[in-house]
Amino acid sequence: MTLAPDSSSLELAERLGAHARVMSVTSSIALSSCVREVRLRGDAVQVAGVAGNDVMIRLTDDRGRAVRRRYSVRDVDADRDELTLWITTDHDGPGVRWARDAQTGDTVDVIGPRGKIVLDPLADWHLFVGDLSALGAFYRLAQSIEVPGRAIFIVETDHADDALTAPFDEALGVTGIFVDRQGRANDDPTGLLKGLAAFALPPDEGHAYLFGEFHVLKVLADAVRDRGLSDEMISLKSFWRRGHANADHGEPRKD
Ligand SMILES: Cc1cc2nc3c(=O)[nH]c(=O)nc-3n(C[C@H](O)[C@H](O)[C@H](O)COP(=O)(O)OP(=O)(O)OC[C@H]3O[C@@H](n4cnc5c(N)ncnc54)[C@H](O)[C@@H]3O)c2cc1C
Repeated sequence: MTLAPDSSSLELAERLGAHARVMSVTSSIALSSCVREVRLRGDAVQVAGVAGNDVMIRLTDDRGRAVRRRYSVRDVDADRDELTLWITTDHDGPGVRWARDAQTGDTVDVIGPRGKIVLDPLADWHLFVGDLSALGAFYRLAQSIEVPGRAIFIVETDHADDALTAPFDEALGVTGIFVDRQGRANDDPTGLLKGLAAFALPPDEGHAYLFGEFHVLKVLADAVRDRGLSDEMISLKSFWRRGHANADHGEPRKD
């Protein structure tokens, strides 16, 4: 029997030009101290879209209200009809609670694909900078780079085992810098700025993808501009904001 999404999911999906589906959890496992991998089944290829896209999950908050949370698609497996999400678990909120408690067979309303940031096909190199919440998006984007090409990752983590790796085509030049946060606040850009400063950007045309905490990204955007990237060469997306839950539609406050 095919389950129908809630009418609010159907209406929202129609407005967004996306699909609404009821997907079922096939697994939820801890990959590291702060990353949980959740796999969902049901029309996965359609819902997952292209590299850079995310999905919107309908959840319930602790007051019983319906809220939506967005997660980048880490991977999609057409044969198994599954998509994979990497969800960070070092805070508390409806999204984290869902990822932690999800059991095989649970169902959830999912809207996708969402998101406008995709790989820049003209760039010779791709610079991915952000925190752990961005790692799944970064790896899926980098795995879609046509070889030969170059991917550079600068990612801040709290725990050494959160520096998860991914398989890449041997012809892709890959550089990864995992910066240890060393107890700094998670809206402190110092670590990522140091990681960026330690790296000589390649010549040719590049593109920077900055995903993560709202305040950190503002500073990082200035830093990559200072390194010679124009606005067209920078894709920035705030995933969350320190001290504020994301709004019911899944976006952090921007004011
Ligand atoms: C387009 C898009 C794609 C995203 N992709 C991913 C993804 O692939 N993986 C992923 O883990 N997240 C991703 N996020 C971020 C995720 O949707 C938010 O972090 C979301 O707020 C988490 O929901 P929550 O209910 O757990 O916490 P909320 O109720 O939103 O927040 C509760 C508290 O936790 C804090 N908080 C929220 N997120 C974090 C964090 N990452 N680290 C530390 N503190 C935090 C908030 O500041 C708040 O104080 C994405 C967000 C967007 C907009």
